[in-house]
Amino acid sequence: MRGIYLILLCLLLQSGAGYCASPAYELYLKGDLQKAASAYMALAAASPANPTPLLNASACLKQAGLYRRAARALVQALERDQLNPDIYSELGWLRFHLADYEGARSAFETAIQIQPLHARAELGLASVYSNLNEKEKTLEHLDKYRQLRPDFAGVDYILAWNYMNFNMRDEAEKALIEALRKDPSFTEARLPLAGIYARQGKFNEAWNEYYRVLDYAPGHPIASKMIKVLEGKLTKQPEEIRPPFRITKPLVMAPLDALAKLSPSVKIRVGIGTGNTGKQGRNNFLKIKSFEGMTVTGKASGKVYATIPPDETWTAVYEDGKVTLKGPDGTVYGHFSGHILVKPAKPEGSVIFEASAKIKNPWFRGGDRQYRGYMELYPIAGRGIGVVNVIAAELYLLGVVPSEVAPQWPYESLKSQAVIARTQVLIRRAHGGVHKAEGYHLCDGQHCQAYKGESIEANTTDRAVVDTEGEILTYHGRPAYTFYHSNCGGWIQASKEVTGWGDSPYLVTKPDIAPGRHEDPLGPWDFNLWLTGNPDANCNYPGRVRSSEFRWMKIIRQKDMTFRVNKDYAVGEITDIIPLRRSPSGNVNSLRLVGKKKTVTITREHLIRNILGFSSLKSTLFEIEINRFKNGKIRNYWIYGGGWGHAIGLCQSGAAGLAGKYNMDYKGILDFYFPGTSIRHIKYVKKHK
Ligand SMILES: [Zn+2]
Ligand SMILES: [Zn+2]
Repeated sequence: MRGIYLILLCLLLQSGAGYCASPAYELYLKGDLQKAASAYMALAAASPANPTPLLNASACLKQAGLYRRAARALVQALERDQLNPDIYSELGWLRFHLADYEGARSAFETAIQIQPLHARAELGLASVYSNLNEKEKTLEHLDKYRQLRPDFAGVDYILAWNYMNFNMRDEAEKALIEALRKDPSFTEARLPLAGIYARQGKFNEAWNEYYRVLDYAPGHPIASKMIKVLEGKLTKQPEEIRPPFRITKPLVMAPLDALAKLSPSVKIRVGIGTGNTGKQGRNNFLKIKSFEGMTVTGKASGKVYATIPPDETWTAVYEDGKVTLKGPDGTVYGHFSGHILVKPAKPEGSVIFEASAKIKNPWFRGGDRQYRGYMELYPIAGRGIGVVNVIAAELYLLGVVPSEVAPQWPYESLKSQAVIARTQVLIRRAHGGVHKAEGYHLCDGQHCQAYKGESIEANTTDRAVVDTEGEILTYHGRPAYTFYHSNCGGWIQASKEVTGWGDSPYLVTKPDIAPGRHEDPLGPWDFNLWLTGNPDANCNYPGRVRSSEFRWMKIIRQKDMTFRVNKDYAVGEITDIIPLRRSPSGNVNSLRLVGKKKTVTITREHLIRNILGFSSLKSTLFEIEINRFKNGKIRNYWIYGGGWGHAIGLCQSGAAGLAGKYNMDYKGILDFYFPGTSIRHIKYVKKHK
């Protein structure tokens, strides 16, 4: 009885938003895609006038890789809804991926007849003509698509791809530069641009582009190889092509407002110059100075080994498993097998690491780095010098907030960032955190929270820290797990959905849309339209947030995909890639890779993001379409995605949107993303005046 009731309820709801917690939808979320499709088909049979169950069935079949059956379901749906351009457009895409170009063209053209300038259909027509090698028509429809999605870096990338096919090198170069202006992390666009420069004999430019590929995709095989090939051909020194950022001595006193206003807070330990996993980098040597002068003391002994005058640069060298300290003329002041402390002569002073091209760790190679508090240096066997910044929590936050968000963002969103960053600090300090073994509470990268030190501090973010001094977010009196990410793509993901994240009552799923507006999770068909479109969301905030963070795409060639996957899993030539389990937010939580030799299923968030192509996906919020030749072999993969990061907790771009579009204050923002939590003052702060 209850089952029938549920189906009836679903039928009612499906005429609306297309969502319902129906058994079919549950099967879809679980990744049981064929059963989900059958269940939607049963709903379609029970409700002969309603096209929605057929559309959902089609979307499940497509995700399962069954494009022919998916197309048949759409043809059936058209009998129930003859004037829906989205159905024609999607039918066109299925046919296009099956290499039925005539069928695809007619479906796209019908979509455009019903709705002129239908974005997806315009892109589809361009793609059909591109595969048919019809230059004029390809470019004509791509141009229309570009007018419809002007901020979308994917358009320029596809344009460039076609220009290269049509041997239009100058146009390709311009389109690639445009794609990279919109999305600097677009590795797939940077590689061909580097190739164009290399062929033009612009070796410095080519070298620089390959170097930037490595910034986003460390260890990228082509970029690593080409860097070495080009090194002998450069006409400028690497330092001239990529001039390091230099800190010069300020003529007047730097603004010390924040410093004067903040009361003493607990000291924390931060690993500096760390890599992707938060471990120390390869610091073969370091150049150290301070505008105020410094002392070097033994941590255990308390003995003063050196007093360094203001502005004088000393070096710490990793030699024979010890840290050797040398003065400017090379005089050795000691070999240390334990920890030494480098402290500025004045408490408000700072320690500076000077950039040098000879330091292996890119963090210290690329630019001067300046830190408040003091530094602890120690040898790490076989690796180099460990660098830990010991600093008062509130002063640390002055460097975190502008590293995590843009200081120009709406002010209340900066305050919300200060509160959640502070909460993270206290949790990790109390529990030791993931870097307990390394001897620090947090690393300075995205792994924990980004911290670039004093040189990035800004007036606005300073004020945000001062105005929220000592405030943290709590749940039932305990610090809350204030996870955050750059951009959710439009839906927040609940922590319990993701392997290894645990279940917190305030880390829930919800749409990142205007406060007070309600929206149900999207069914498979609506999800596809939403992800490939440009929907309204707090984090869709042009002018403040890069559009390439909210919506992105990649086209990956079959041989690149097979090569990348086989580096980690020996599955042989790839024959299918199927996202299985999804959160109600749409994020993929398990991914099946089918190869000629074997099949593997991946469930960890970072593994899913890293396996598809050479540079990792910005998020797990994606759909994958597989484009095949007539003979069924795979040509390439089209990945449509949204958001940047894990989509759990606070969406930084969305917080900017809530503050900027709706004038929401930071308490409202925190309540929006962490419902049920409250703000508390912590005790380390002695309230001033
Ligand atoms: Zn970390
Ligand atoms: Zn968002």
